[in-house]
Amino acid sequence: MNTHPPPAGTSGSDDLPRKGGGEEQKPAVFLDRDGVIIDEVNYLARVEQVRVIPGAAAAIRRLNAAGIPVVVVTNQAGVARGYFPESQVAVVHDHLSKVLADEAGARIDHYDYSPFHPTEGVGEYKRDTDCRKPNPGMLLRSAAKLGLDLGGSWMVGDKLSDLQAGAAAGCRTILVRTGYGAGIDRTAPDETLKLAAVLPTVVDAVGWILDNRQGRG
Ligand SMILES: [Mg+2]
Repeated sequence: MNTHPPPAGTSGSDDLPRKGGGEEQKPAVFLDRDGVIIDEVNYLARVEQVRVIPGAAAAIRRLNAAGIPVVVVTNQAGVARGYFPESQVAVVHDHLSKVLADEAGARIDHYDYSPFHPTEGVGEYKRDTDCRKPNPGMLLRSAAKLGLDLGGSWMVGDKLSDLQAGAAAGCRTILVRTGYGAGIDRTAPDETLKLAAVLPTVVDAVGWILDNRQGRG
């Protein structure tokens, strides 16, 4: 886990999520990383491979401006498989944060990742964990850390495992057609997945969330 301060030169530190202190829990938007914010690349390991999906930075900035915490939750089994060291995940996330800030003044409030795989890999990384999607562990621990209202939150993903993790955490979910999403045979609404909408990209998903954030579905 790593948490990033807002990049220098951006405003809005007042709306940073904070835990405890009697503050009301906030709904958040959980975003999968690969195929949602950036182009899907199998086991992306290097910053040169990071390509932000058009409009994604500005969309994240809209969430920042609305005071909605933005949390990235990403399976990184490339670590378990030995394709890249765990330290490289933070390198990629630091780079992604810089690109988003440079492009649109956008900020990811918190990153969480799961480096494990239940059946592949070696050593401590080869194990079944509650944090690897479709399990909801990353969403649950992010919510505990940041003081988030999961029932009012959203999970945006390009795979069924994203939607399953979101639904298991009590969030409403949105499937986007970028990344693997183009090949997923689902149409909203799907109650099991708490699937509220199927939309072309994260840009549409953010617009949809901002239009529909009142009430629980
Ligand atoms: Mg993905």
